[in-house]
Amino acid sequence: MKEHDFNPESLMMTYGYKPELSEGAIKCPIFQTSTFVFKTAEEGKAFFELAYGLREKSPKEELGLIYSRINNPNLEILENRLCLWDKADDCAVFESGMSAISTVLLEFLKPGDLLVYSNPLYGGTDHFIHHFLDKIGVHTIGVMPDQRMDEVTQMIKDSGKADKLAMIFMETPANPTNDIVDIESFSQIAKQFSTDEKKVLVAVDNTYMGPLWQHPLQCGADLVMYSATKYIGGHSDLIAGAVLGNAELMIRVKTLRTFLGNMVSPHTAWLLLRSLETLKIRMDQQTQNAQVVANYLNNHSKVENVYYLGLLEEGTEAHIIYKKQCSAPGAMVSFDIVGGEKEAFAFLNNLKLMKLAVSLGGTESLAEHPKTMTHAGVDLGQMQQMNITDQLVRLSIGVENAKDLIWDLEQALSKIEIGATLELTEV
Ligand SMILES: *Cc1c(COP(=O)(O)O)cnc(C)c1O
Repeated sequence: MKEHDFNPESLMMTYGYKPELSEGAIKCPIFQTSTFVFKTAEEGKAFFELAYGLREKSPKEELGLIYSRINNPNLEILENRLCLWDKADDCAVFESGMSAISTVLLEFLKPGDLLVYSNPLYGGTDHFIHHFLDKIGVHTIGVMPDQRMDEVTQMIKDSGKADKLAMIFMETPANPTNDIVDIESFSQIAKQFSTDEKKVLVAVDNTYMGPLWQHPLQCGADLVMYSATKYIGGHSDLIAGAVLGNAELMIRVKTLRTFLGNMVSPHTAWLLLRSLETLKIRMDQQTQNAQVVANYLNNHSKVENVYYLGLLEEGTEAHIIYKKQCSAPGAMVSFDIVGGEKEAFAFLNNLKLMKLAVSLGGTESLAEHPKTMTHAGVDLGQMQQMNITDQLVRLSIGVENAKDLIWDLEQALSKIEIGATLELTEV
């Protein structure tokens, strides 16, 4: 028989776990332990030599278990399984998405460097860039969704810091409007400013799409990051993060993680292993539901614009990029309600099945108002430019029956009195 390459979803139950090492248990137990017993002092010495990079690994040698801040079976198996979706050499899991992102920024940026990033960014990332990286002297340039690649190149040249460009950081599709950024084009800009001594890195936060349908490493990115709190965890019951990339970069990420001590706990890693088994079926259902919801909203008289990748018009630039880098539209839908904050709030307050909460990617559908909630910290002028207005509502679509979701939307939209705000502002 010919060798067969299993699909990632087929490997999520077993990959990387050896039952014979755990009394034959079909499921990987929780290794709720801080430290591991060495067979001999010589073995302990050999493990530490590898962990601290004091010598090269010999062929087939694997880093032995030492201490749960450095390694732990639950974390290692989880990391091996996450590598399958993105076809990455290695992965590091973190105690939150923010700790994954901030560890990458801290490891690869130093005072005087230039960071280019796409807007809009997740609020926490935006805050870290403007309130922490600024303070330690990292220069930054933000790119707006409608800026062309030649404009971006020119901005980098005009900054006078082109030789200091160290990283391009992007989020695509972007939260909350599903704006899409061309990873391949940004990777080409990074190449253009790279030299033999210094490679400009491309880092992509892939949380909003999740690990199934967009693979930034295959589009030229060097690092991909996730808030595993979202689709990967998928049940709104934990906080975690992940970074993936090639072996050389991941050694650096893992080394900084060892010394910051911001790895995920064995218990959370174990919950994530359980979550990964259903990642594909959850996301298939969520995307299918999201398309039904987006189509429904698109035809509703109280809705002005729907921002959903599955509704992009053929021939537009966004559609071309979408077709090139994504294989499904995902499960995040946002839309402009006719009216303003009052109408948006009336809609949110009247939902019965969908819950009014931030976060995304879980099995239950959630709704929120980006301008006053997730994006409340963003500069007002920029918010307008990015379509984050009083009218905008964001939905994260779950695994419920789509008919029930539509019923809920219908009844909540029917409670809005259109025109109330208009009349008030006219007098
Ligand atoms: C939630 C989120 C984060 C932060 O992740 P945490 O797990 O909450 O720390 C980062 N980026 C995006 C796009 C997110 O949605």
